[in-house]
Amino acid sequence: MAGRQSRTYNPDEDWFTDPLNPDSETNAKRKRWKKGSVLDVLAKMRLPQGPQSVKELFNYPEQLVQAAFSKPEWQDRCVDLLRWGVVEHSDYSGIFAEREAKRLLFMALGQCKGIHVPHMVRKTCDIDPSSQRVLLHMSEVLDAGESCVFADIRAQLHPEAQEWCLAASPKPEDSIKAKEDAYQAMADFLLENGHWAVDQEHADFCLKHGTNCVVNRPRTDLNLCNRPQGIFSGSLIVGNAGNCCQGWSSEGKRARKAHSSQHAWNSWLAQRRELALRSEEDMFFQECTELWDVEGCLVKPLEDSHTVVHTTVGPSTLGWPTSRNRLLSAGLSSNSLVWLGPTGADAVKQDFEAVFARSCMLTGSVFFQEDTQSGLNGMNAS
Ligand SMILES: [Zn+2]
Repeated sequence: MAGRQSRTYNPDEDWFTDPLNPDSETNAKRKRWKKGSVLDVLAKMRLPQGPQSVKELFNYPEQLVQAAFSKPEWQDRCVDLLRWGVVEHSDYSGIFAEREAKRLLFMALGQCKGIHVPHMVRKTCDIDPSSQRVLLHMSEVLDAGESCVFADIRAQLHPEAQEWCLAASPKPEDSIKAKEDAYQAMADFLLENGHWAVDQEHADFCLKHGTNCVVNRPRTDLNLCNRPQGIFSGSLIVGNAGNCCQGWSSEGKRARKAHSSQHAWNSWLAQRRELALRSEEDMFFQECTELWDVEGCLVKPLEDSHTVVHTTVGPSTLGWPTSRNRLLSAGLSSNSLVWLGPTGADAVKQDFEAVFARSCMLTGSVFFQEDTQSGLNGMNAS
């Protein structure tokens, strides 16, 4: 049977309607144009207009809510997912920007649709001391000091698993092939032994509380004290991670799966799989560079426990004059959630853009808030 040849994703290309022949049958499925090319620019001009002022730019949470609720069935699904509250945690947290994104989104839901979403954070983790200071401050001012702050994803596993992984880690002088093999053996070991390596009684030193705190507290703990109103064991439990991208860029010499960050990645991955299988986590969001091997590193290892969907998107696709594409994934635990959207990376990308893509009406100068004369005065003074 004849069919379209499958294509692999190329980050230099985007899907958009053929601007020269938009109504053609053959082009109805959209074509790809090299990013930044004339055809690409023309194609994006056909999209709904993006923000046209600073005010509209910063009103984006409301615009996202309106887009996501533009069909009754989407609205029903969103409300059904969020009505019992969201409990999130984060690894590779950085400054935990995804928390702010959700806070703004939930605020917009309240203002535009009258929907209140109870929201709680249980733990964050980052190895960088500067990020840790931000996370400690967030815990103090946003969670009344209740949320934990950990330092190292590798220390979230059972101590014996930590020792095994450390012993299995390659040496700096090993060949690329030997390093890849060592990290793959580590991944295999952790996925096979997750039932004990991911120990929900395991505690690690918490920077916030100055003592050992349990890393992956059980869902039933949400029925205990000190939780925001509306949060309970039936709330949606969501993980977040923006894993290290150095191995996939020139900074990490493109070592890919031979990069030392694979150790932390394997530890993170084992926890996602095991917690989903135990119904202790409902889904996760993950972000990395568009060069990252999402199929090999995420989709395949979690095929027994999750449905993982992913797309590459940047602010400019949403109408922001900023060019920084990222590969974004959502992993849905097969125990608790069902993916109702299209299958295949290209179809997911098209579907996402059909709802959220906007043409870019602004230039980067919108980010310079001082007036021209003040800017000139500053330049003259220097
Ligand atoms: Zn703690």
